[in-house]
Amino acid sequence: MANSKRNSGHNEKAAPFRINGTVVQPGTRVKVELPLAQLYTQTPLNVPIHVIHGRHPGPVLMVSAAIHGDELNGVEIIRRLLRHSSLKRLNGTLLAVPVVNVFGFIHKTRYLPDRRDLNRCFPGSETGSLGARMAWQFKTQVLDRATHAVDLHTGAIHRANLPQIRADLSNPATAEMANAFGVPVVINSVLGEGTLREVAEAQGIPVITYEAGEALRFEEACIRAGVKGVLNIMHHLNMTGPRKTRSPLEPHIARSSSWVRAERDGVFLPTVALGARVRRGQLIGRISSPFGGEDVAIESPCAGILVGRNNLPLVNEGEALYHIARFEEVGEVEQNLEVFTSDIERGPSTAGEPPIV
Ligand SMILES: [Zn+2]
Repeated sequence: MANSKRNSGHNEKAAPFRINGTVVQPGTRVKVELPLAQLYTQTPLNVPIHVIHGRHPGPVLMVSAAIHGDELNGVEIIRRLLRHSSLKRLNGTLLAVPVVNVFGFIHKTRYLPDRRDLNRCFPGSETGSLGARMAWQFKTQVLDRATHAVDLHTGAIHRANLPQIRADLSNPATAEMANAFGVPVVINSVLGEGTLREVAEAQGIPVITYEAGEALRFEEACIRAGVKGVLNIMHHLNMTGPRKTRSPLEPHIARSSSWVRAERDGVFLPTVALGARVRRGQLIGRISSPFGGEDVAIESPCAGILVGRNNLPLVNEGEALYHIARFEEVGEVEQNLEVFTSDIERGPSTAGEPPIV
């Protein structure tokens, strides 16, 4: 117990944390298997929850990933987070869920076996469909225990997102978390019906979504920024000791955002990268065809920063190609992004592990 005296004046000892019948003593960590569903082969399907219960009382932060089963960056973010040294001296409790939608994770898909989106099934019900039951179990056993939450996502398959936070900024505590995470772009987003974010906010749990990279891919920069972001949130909530790195830059909140869609079927040739600043009317790509016909030029409908991009060259008319966010001070966002990117690239990966390239 010598540690308890050192911890920035916190001498009060935390009470044991109980989850699904397991008692986690202060200063210990446990992996709890939460039975969320059963396969029709009678095989139970468990969701592993890592509970890191600090010696001293504090917030209960839930960090979840792969609620869309093919969104993998968050899975790796949590793996690295669980090895981080700052968890040794924790105030409060971290509930880390590397894979919420285990079905989708096994089948490399966003959805559940009944083709439902688990992140549209909340709050769910005890007696509903598979998705409703999973959502209900997860909400009552895990989410309801949290005081704050970070949900980790990526773009859909073939669609990459620039690292960004999406949050309902009308809740001041949520807005503070969005700022504290430390990525340069924040999008104030309306809560989708049935999402984890919607039910959490409705019951007073501030929650932010981190979106970075694309489905079924690992991307080192997105992962590093995510690990750093969650550590920044823990620091902001006074769950960890003094910060060893410098404070993140204040992010910019997008005024609005819009999608650029394909005007024609064909082969998409993008000419701007994620994170690029674009000007209104700028040529940002072409749609061509190896089977003949004229190319179609794609011009940016507005000035802004490219926060999402389709990486699949084969497109149908009407399909989303680019997501552009508009800002009051677009030049500042561009500069911040440069600083952020070089910091992330030069920054540490997980101790002793080579980066993913
Ligand atoms: Zn997602």
